[in-house]
Amino acid sequence: MQKQKWVVGNWKMNGRVDFTQTLLDQLKTLAIPENVQIGVAPPLPYLAQSAHILHDSRIHTGAQDVSQFEKEGAFTGETNAGMLRDIGADFALVGHSERRQYFGETGEILVKKIQNALHAGLCPIYCIGENLQQRENKLEKQVISEQLGILDQVQADKVIIAYEPVWAIGTGKVATEEQIIDMHQHIYQHLLSKQINTDNITVLYGGSVNAENASVILNLPNVDGALVGGASLKIESFVHIIKAIEN
Ligand code: PEP
Repeated sequence: MQKQKWVVGNWKMNGRVDFTQTLLDQLKTLAIPENVQIGVAPPLPYLAQSAHILHDSRIHTGAQDVSQFEKEGAFTGETNAGMLRDIGADFALVGHSERRQYFGETGEILVKKIQNALHAGLCPIYCIGENLQQRENKLEKQVISEQLGILDQVQADKVIIAYEPVWAIGTGKVATEEQIIDMHQHIYQHLLSKQINTDNITVLYGGSVNAENASVILNLPNVDGALVGGASLKIESFVHIIKAIEN
């Protein structure tokens, strides 16, 4: 069976009710090939609205984060995986570099988030990536292996992985083809070395993917799709990226 390719839009903290309605109404009209899966992760206040708009489409709705706490209780401001599922999410980003940077998310917290997502029936998209200093010091593979290490504690073959070099996120500075091929191969080799069945593993690339570079990136070996930030906020560029997948 042909492997599925994913294009997931991370809206970050952008959008309003009208924006959500307009963009998703347009996205819904797109004919999606069978081997392609599309996801959008709007800000939490617009998740239920998005799920409602998309309920009769093949487009997945997801959250940008999920609580490390599984049960309901006195956790002001938190939203647990069950609640996300309840309002229509079917995936959740976990460990995006902005969450690691601004909210101090550590491996220990991220294991709980992934476990909670899986228990609730949400597909976790686990984001990993080295920063510029680590890349300049040639530590990128070591960093990625360490970040992948937490998958030993979860059912790894149920997790989508997104390789996002931090220096390429929102910077317009995309990784080179060689860098992407090399790291995706490293990720696959790491998983195989842990006896993880990679037949159904999905490894996305993220970091300044746009309408111009998408067709090259999406068709590189071991690249099973893209996690797209800025370019997912404009229907033209997001659709262009989706159409860049060769069938
Ligand atoms: C992201 O937020 O995951 C991302 C890859 O952003 P951008 O595409 O804007 O670099």
